[in-house]
Amino acid sequence: MCLNSKFSFLLFQVFNVAGVPIEWEEHYVGTEVDPRTESFLTWESLESVRRNKVGLKGPMATPIGKGHRSLNLTLRKELGLYANVRPCNSLPGYKTRYDDVNLVTIRENTEGEYSGLEHQVVRGVVESLKIITRQASLRVAEYAFHYAKTNGRERVSAIHKANIMRKTDGLFLKCCREVAEKYPEIAYEEVIIDNCCMALVKNPSLFDVLVMPNLYGDIISDLCAGLIGGLGLTPSCNIGEGGICLAEAVHGSAPDIAGKNLANPTALLLSAVMMLHHLQFNNQADRIHNAILQTISEGKFRTADLGGNASTSDFTKAVCDHI
Ligand code: NAD
Repeated sequence: MCLNSKFSFLLFQVFNVAGVPIEWEEHYVGTEVDPRTESFLTWESLESVRRNKVGLKGPMATPIGKGHRSLNLTLRKELGLYANVRPCNSLPGYKTRYDDVNLVTIRENTEGEYSGLEHQVVRGVVESLKIITRQASLRVAEYAFHYAKTNGRERVSAIHKANIMRKTDGLFLKCCREVAEKYPEIAYEEVIIDNCCMALVKNPSLFDVLVMPNLYGDIISDLCAGLIGGLGLTPSCNIGEGGICLAEAVHGSAPDIAGKNLANPTALLLSAVMMLHHLQFNNQADRIHNAILQTISEGKFRTADLGGNASTSDFTKAVCDHI
Protein backbone atom coordinates (compact mmCIF):
# COMPACT_ATOMS: atom_id res chain seq x y z
CA MET A 1 0.00 0.00 0.00
CA CYS A 2 1.23 3.49 -0.75
CA LEU A 3 -0.35 6.54 0.89
CA ASN A 4 1.26 9.16 -1.30
CA SER A 5 0.97 9.52 -5.04
CA LYS A 6 4.16 11.46 -5.78
CA PHE A 7 6.69 8.69 -5.50
CA SER A 8 4.44 5.76 -6.27
CA PHE A 9 4.93 5.94 -10.03
CA LEU A 10 8.73 5.86 -9.70
CA LEU A 11 8.57 3.19 -7.05
CA PHE A 12 6.44 0.94 -9.24
CA GLN A 13 9.03 1.33 -12.02
CA VAL A 14 11.80 0.11 -9.73
CA PHE A 15 9.71 -2.77 -8.41
CA ASN A 16 8.75 -3.82 -11.94
CA VAL A 17 12.34 -3.88 -13.12
CA ALA A 18 13.40 -5.87 -10.04
CA GLY A 19 10.54 -8.33 -10.62
CA VAL A 20 8.94 -7.86 -7.21
CA PRO A 21 5.72 -9.92 -7.11
CA ILE A 22 3.58 -7.44 -5.23
CA GLU A 23 0.01 -6.42 -5.86
CA TRP A 24 -0.52 -2.91 -4.54
CA GLU A 25 -3.53 -1.44 -2.82
CA GLU A 26 -3.20 2.32 -3.15
CA HIS A 27 -4.69 4.70 -0.60
CA TYR A 28 -4.51 8.45 -0.54
CA VAL A 29 -4.97 10.94 2.24
CA GLY A 30 -8.60 12.10 2.18
CA THR A 31 -9.78 15.61 1.29
CA GLU A 32 -12.02 15.86 4.36
CA VAL A 33 -11.66 14.78 7.94
CA ASP A 34 -12.91 11.23 8.29
CA PRO A 35 -15.03 11.20 11.47
CA ARG A 36 -14.01 7.59 12.11
CA THR A 37 -10.32 8.54 12.41
CA GLU A 38 -10.78 12.24 13.29
CA SER A 39 -8.13 13.05 10.68
CA PHE A 40 -7.69 13.21 6.92
CA LEU A 41 -6.49 9.66 7.07
CA THR A 42 -9.26 7.43 5.83
CA TRP A 43 -10.55 4.43 7.73
CA GLU A 44 -10.14 2.34 4.58
CA SER A 45 -6.38 3.04 4.46
CA LEU A 46 -6.03 1.87 8.07
CA GLU A 47 -8.07 -1.23 7.34
CA SER A 48 -5.84 -1.99 4.37
CA VAL A 49 -2.72 -2.02 6.56
CA ARG A 50 -4.49 -4.06 9.25
CA ARG A 51 -5.54 -6.62 6.66
CA ASN A 52 -2.26 -6.86 4.72
CA LYS A 53 0.00 -6.30 7.75
CA VAL A 54 2.52 -4.59 5.52
CA GLY A 55 2.72 -1.25 3.78
CA LEU A 56 4.78 1.61 2.47
CA LYS A 57 3.75 5.18 3.15
CA GLY A 58 4.81 8.53 1.81
CA PRO A 59 5.40 11.54 4.08
CA MET A 60 2.36 13.42 5.30
CA ALA A 61 2.40 17.11 6.27
CA THR A 62 0.90 18.42 9.50
CA PRO A 63 0.09 22.11 10.02
CA ILE A 64 2.21 23.69 12.77
CA GLY A 65 0.38 24.72 15.94
CA LYS A 66 -3.16 24.42 14.57
CA GLY A 67 -5.59 22.40 12.49
CA HIS A 68 -6.42 18.72 12.35
CA ARG A 69 -4.93 15.87 14.35
CA SER A 70 -1.56 14.76 12.91
CA LEU A 71 -1.99 12.07 10.29
CA ASN A 72 1.15 10.32 11.44
CA LEU A 73 0.02 10.30 15.07
CA THR A 74 -3.35 8.91 14.01
CA LEU A 75 -1.66 6.19 12.02
CA ARG A 76 0.67 5.22 14.88
CA LYS A 77 -2.08 5.20 17.48
CA GLU A 78 -4.66 3.36 15.39
CA LEU A 79 -2.26 0.68 14.17
CA GLY A 80 -0.34 0.38 17.43
CA LEU A 81 2.94 1.15 15.64
CA TYR A 82 5.04 0.93 18.76
CA ALA A 83 8.60 0.93 17.42
CA ASN A 84 10.16 2.95 14.64
CA VAL A 85 13.38 1.40 13.36
CA ARG A 86 15.75 3.82 11.63
CA PRO A 87 19.01 2.37 10.29
CA CYS A 88 21.68 4.88 9.34
CA ASN A 89 24.69 3.78 7.30
CA SER A 90 27.44 5.65 5.49
CA LEU A 91 27.06 5.32 1.73
CA PRO A 92 30.16 4.03 -0.06
CA GLY A 93 31.53 6.64 -2.45
CA TYR A 94 29.62 9.56 -0.97
CA LYS A 95 32.10 11.45 1.18
CA THR A 96 30.98 12.97 4.45
CA ARG A 97 32.94 13.73 7.62
CA TYR A 98 32.57 10.03 8.59
CA ASP A 99 32.71 6.92 6.46
CA ASP A 100 31.90 4.43 9.21
CA VAL A 101 28.41 5.34 10.40
CA ASN A 102 26.55 2.11 11.06
CA LEU A 103 23.88 2.51 13.69
CA VAL A 104 20.18 2.00 14.23
CA THR A 105 17.87 4.21 16.26
CA ILE A 106 14.76 2.58 17.66
CA ARG A 107 12.17 5.13 18.65
CA GLU A 108 9.23 4.50 20.94
CA ASN A 109 6.41 5.57 18.70
CA THR A 110 3.17 5.85 20.65
CA GLU A 111 3.57 8.03 23.74
CA GLY A 112 5.95 10.45 25.47
CA GLU A 113 5.44 14.08 24.39
CA TYR A 114 3.50 12.80 21.37
CA SER A 115 0.52 11.67 23.42
CA GLY A 116 -1.48 14.64 22.15
CA LEU A 117 -2.48 15.72 25.66
CA GLU A 118 -2.10 19.48 25.65
CA HIS A 119 -4.36 22.10 27.17
CA GLN A 120 -4.51 25.63 28.47
CA VAL A 121 -4.38 25.82 32.25
CA VAL A 122 -5.22 29.54 32.42
CA ARG A 123 -4.75 32.28 29.82
CA GLY A 124 -1.06 32.47 28.94
CA VAL A 125 -0.22 29.13 30.54
CA VAL A 126 -0.38 25.84 28.65
CA GLU A 127 0.48 22.35 29.67
CA SER A 128 1.65 19.33 27.68
CA LEU A 129 1.67 15.90 29.26
CA LYS A 130 4.49 13.47 28.67
CA ILE A 131 3.15 9.96 29.20
CA ILE A 132 5.51 7.04 29.75
CA THR A 133 4.04 3.64 30.53
CA ARG A 134 5.69 0.46 31.67
CA GLN A 135 3.89 -1.49 28.96
CA ALA A 136 5.07 0.65 26.02
CA SER A 137 8.61 1.00 27.43
CA LEU A 138 9.02 -2.75 27.93
CA ARG A 139 7.62 -3.39 24.47
CA VAL A 140 10.04 -1.08 22.66
CA ALA A 141 13.00 -2.19 24.81
CA GLU A 142 12.19 -5.82 24.06
CA TYR A 143 12.02 -4.99 20.36
CA ALA A 144 15.40 -3.21 20.49
CA PHE A 145 17.18 -6.10 22.19
CA HIS A 146 15.51 -8.66 19.95
CA TYR A 147 16.53 -6.58 16.93
CA ALA A 148 20.12 -6.36 18.20
CA LYS A 149 20.28 -10.12 18.75
CA THR A 150 18.76 -11.11 15.42
CA ASN A 151 20.76 -8.58 13.41
CA GLY A 152 24.22 -9.38 14.75
CA ARG A 153 24.46 -6.17 16.77
CA GLU A 154 26.51 -6.03 19.95
CA ARG A 155 25.26 -3.16 22.06
CA VAL A 156 22.07 -1.32 22.97
CA SER A 157 22.28 2.22 24.36
CA ALA A 158 19.23 3.58 26.15
CA ILE A 159 19.04 7.34 25.60
CA HIS A 160 17.33 9.39 28.32
CA LYS A 161 17.15 12.49 30.47
CA ALA A 162 16.31 10.68 33.69
CA ASN A 163 18.51 13.00 35.72
CA ILE A 164 15.81 15.67 35.19
CA MET A 165 12.70 13.66 34.20
CA ARG A 166 13.16 11.19 36.98
CA LYS A 167 9.70 9.65 36.90
CA THR A 168 9.09 9.39 33.15
CA ASP A 169 12.55 8.69 31.75
CA GLY A 170 13.31 6.91 35.01
CA LEU A 171 10.57 4.39 34.27
CA PHE A 172 11.77 4.06 30.68
CA LEU A 173 15.28 3.20 31.92
CA LYS A 174 13.99 0.79 34.53
CA CYS A 175 12.18 -1.13 31.79
CA CYS A 176 15.27 -1.14 29.54
CA ARG A 177 17.35 -2.53 32.42
CA GLU A 178 14.80 -5.29 33.04
CA VAL A 179 14.90 -6.35 29.41
CA ALA A 180 18.71 -6.04 29.24
CA GLU A 181 18.99 -8.71 31.92
CA LYS A 182 17.32 -11.20 29.59
CA TYR A 183 19.98 -10.55 26.92
CA PRO A 184 23.36 -11.02 28.66
CA GLU A 185 25.06 -11.45 25.27
CA ILE A 186 24.16 -7.87 24.28
CA ALA A 187 26.09 -5.07 26.02
CA TYR A 188 23.86 -2.42 27.59
CA GLU A 189 24.59 1.19 28.48
CA GLU A 190 22.64 4.33 29.40
CA VAL A 191 23.52 7.69 27.87
CA ILE A 192 22.02 11.08 28.71
CA ILE A 193 20.58 12.63 25.57
CA ASP A 194 22.67 15.80 25.51
CA ASN A 195 25.88 13.84 25.94
CA CYS A 196 24.63 11.40 23.29
CA CYS A 197 24.25 14.25 20.75
CA MET A 198 27.79 15.43 21.43
CA ALA A 199 29.21 11.91 21.20
CA LEU A 200 27.29 11.17 17.99
CA VAL A 201 28.64 14.18 16.11
CA LYS A 202 32.16 13.58 17.48
CA ASN A 203 32.38 9.84 16.90
CA PRO A 204 29.28 8.00 15.62
CA SER A 205 31.10 4.66 15.66
CA LEU A 206 30.69 4.69 19.46
CA PHE A 207 27.07 3.63 18.91
CA ASP A 208 25.35 0.50 17.64
CA VAL A 209 21.61 0.23 18.50
CA LEU A 210 20.02 3.18 20.30
CA VAL A 211 16.61 2.92 21.95
CA MET A 212 14.77 5.94 23.27
CA PRO A 213 11.47 7.63 24.03
CA ASN A 214 9.50 9.21 21.21
CA LEU A 215 10.70 12.84 21.05
CA TYR A 216 14.37 11.98 21.50
CA GLY A 217 14.06 9.43 18.71
CA ASP A 218 12.55 12.00 16.39
CA ILE A 219 15.43 14.41 16.98
CA ILE A 220 18.34 11.97 17.19
CA SER A 221 17.38 10.17 13.99
CA ASP A 222 17.48 13.46 12.04
CA LEU A 223 20.87 14.17 13.60
CA CYS A 224 22.04 10.73 12.44
CA ALA A 225 20.70 11.41 8.94
CA GLY A 226 22.89 14.53 8.89
CA LEU A 227 25.96 12.39 9.60
CA ILE A 228 25.61 10.43 6.35
CA GLY A 229 24.42 13.15 3.97
CA GLY A 230 20.89 14.16 4.93
CA LEU A 231 17.27 13.19 5.11
CA GLY A 232 17.12 12.12 1.48
CA LEU A 233 19.01 8.98 2.47
CA THR A 234 17.49 7.50 5.62
CA PRO A 235 14.79 4.83 5.64
CA SER A 236 12.62 3.53 8.45
CA CYS A 237 10.11 0.90 9.33
CA ASN A 238 7.27 1.10 11.87
CA ILE A 239 6.63 -2.12 13.73
CA GLY A 240 3.09 -2.59 14.94
CA GLU A 241 0.79 -4.88 16.82
CA GLY A 242 0.13 -8.27 15.25
CA GLY A 243 3.33 -8.13 13.19
CA ILE A 244 2.49 -5.02 11.13
CA CYS A 245 5.41 -3.50 9.22
CA LEU A 246 4.78 -0.06 7.74
CA ALA A 247 7.86 1.34 6.02
CA GLU A 248 8.41 5.04 5.38
CA ALA A 249 11.26 7.49 4.79
CA VAL A 250 12.44 9.35 7.90
CA HIS A 251 11.94 12.69 6.14
CA GLY A 252 8.78 14.75 5.88
CA SER A 253 6.98 16.25 2.90
CA ALA A 254 9.94 18.55 2.05
CA PRO A 255 7.69 21.52 1.14
CA ASP A 256 10.64 23.55 -0.18
CA ILE A 257 11.26 21.10 -3.02
CA ALA A 258 7.95 19.21 -3.27
CA GLY A 259 6.54 18.73 -6.76
CA LYS A 260 9.74 19.92 -8.48
CA ASN A 261 11.21 16.52 -9.32
CA LEU A 262 14.18 17.35 -7.08
CA ALA A 263 13.76 15.07 -4.06
CA ASN A 264 16.17 12.25 -3.48
CA PRO A 265 14.11 9.03 -3.64
CA THR A 266 16.81 7.00 -1.86
CA ALA A 267 15.14 7.21 1.57
CA LEU A 268 11.85 5.93 0.23
CA LEU A 269 13.50 3.24 -1.89
CA LEU A 270 15.57 2.02 1.05
CA SER A 271 12.38 1.95 3.12
CA ALA A 272 10.88 -0.22 0.39
CA VAL A 273 13.96 -2.44 0.67
CA MET A 274 13.28 -2.82 4.41
CA MET A 275 9.70 -3.77 3.59
CA LEU A 276 10.88 -6.36 1.04
CA HIS A 277 13.24 -7.94 3.59
CA HIS A 278 10.32 -8.14 6.00
CA LEU A 279 8.39 -10.00 3.29
CA GLN A 280 11.39 -12.29 2.75
CA PHE A 281 11.87 -11.03 -0.82
CA ASN A 282 15.56 -10.84 0.01
CA ASN A 283 16.83 -11.33 -3.51
CA GLN A 284 14.81 -8.44 -4.95
CA ALA A 285 15.58 -6.30 -1.90
CA ASP A 286 19.32 -6.84 -2.34
CA ARG A 287 19.19 -6.09 -6.06
CA ILE A 288 17.42 -2.78 -5.47
CA HIS A 289 19.72 -1.93 -2.55
CA ASN A 290 22.87 -2.63 -4.56
CA ALA A 291 21.57 -0.62 -7.51
CA ILE A 292 20.96 2.39 -5.24
CA LEU A 293 24.45 2.11 -3.73
CA GLN A 294 26.05 1.80 -7.17
CA THR A 295 24.14 4.80 -8.51
CA ILE A 296 25.22 6.99 -5.61
CA SER A 297 28.77 5.70 -5.60
CA GLU A 298 29.28 6.28 -9.35
CA GLY A 299 28.21 9.87 -8.81
CA LYS A 300 26.88 10.47 -12.35
CA PHE A 301 23.29 10.84 -11.21
CA ARG A 302 23.09 12.50 -7.83
CA THR A 303 20.26 14.69 -6.66
CA ALA A 304 20.84 18.25 -5.43
CA ASP A 305 20.96 17.30 -1.74
CA LEU A 306 24.08 15.27 -2.55
CA GLY A 307 25.60 18.06 -4.62
CA GLY A 308 24.48 16.76 -8.02
CA ASN A 309 22.00 18.03 -10.57
CA ALA A 310 20.02 14.88 -11.37
CA SER A 311 16.25 14.98 -11.01
CA THR A 312 14.28 12.45 -8.99
CA SER A 313 13.34 10.66 -12.19
CA ASP A 314 16.94 10.70 -13.59
CA PHE A 315 18.16 9.07 -10.40
CA THR A 316 15.38 6.50 -10.41
CA LYS A 317 16.09 5.63 -14.03
CA ALA A 318 19.76 5.10 -13.17
CA VAL A 319 18.72 2.78 -10.33
CA CYS A 320 16.50 0.82 -12.74
CA ASP A 321 19.39 0.59 -15.23
CA HIS A 322 21.66 -0.83 -12.52
CA ILE A 323 19.07 -3.42 -11.53
P1 NAD B 1 11.30 17.58 5.98
O1 NAD B 1 11.92 16.28 6.31
O2 NAD B 1 10.14 17.58 5.09
O3 NAD B 1 12.43 18.54 5.30
C1 NAD B 1 13.60 18.94 6.00
C2 NAD B 1 14.70 19.29 4.98
O4 NAD B 1 15.16 18.08 4.36
C3 NAD B 1 14.20 20.19 3.85
O5 NAD B 1 15.24 21.07 3.50
C4 NAD B 1 13.94 19.21 2.70
O6 NAD B 1 14.08 19.77 1.43
C5 NAD B 1 15.01 18.15 2.95
N1 NAD B 1 14.54 16.86 2.44
C6 NAD B 1 13.59 16.08 2.99
N2 NAD B 1 13.39 15.00 2.23
C7 NAD B 1 14.24 15.09 1.19
C8 NAD B 1 14.52 14.28 0.07
N3 NAD B 1 13.85 13.14 -0.15
N4 NAD B 1 15.45 14.69 -0.82
C9 NAD B 1 16.12 15.83 -0.63
N5 NAD B 1 15.92 16.66 0.43
C10 NAD B 1 14.99 16.28 1.32
O7 NAD B 1 10.98 18.29 7.37
P2 NAD B 1 10.09 19.57 7.69
O8 NAD B 1 10.30 20.61 6.64
O9 NAD B 1 10.39 19.87 9.08
O10 NAD B 1 8.58 19.04 7.61
C11 NAD B 1 7.71 19.26 6.50
C12 NAD B 1 6.36 18.58 6.79
O11 NAD B 1 6.54 17.17 6.83
C13 NAD B 1 5.73 18.97 8.13
O12 NAD B 1 4.34 19.14 7.91
C14 NAD B 1 5.97 17.79 9.03
O13 NAD B 1 4.96 17.63 10.00
C15 NAD B 1 5.92 16.65 8.02
N6 NAD B 1 6.69 15.47 8.44
C16 NAD B 1 6.15 14.26 8.14
C17 NAD B 1 6.85 13.12 8.42
C18 NAD B 1 6.23 11.80 8.07
O14 NAD B 1 5.26 11.74 7.33
N7 NAD B 1 6.76 10.70 8.56
C19 NAD B 1 8.13 13.19 9.01
C20 NAD B 1 8.66 14.43 9.28
C21 NAD B 1 7.94 15.57 8.98
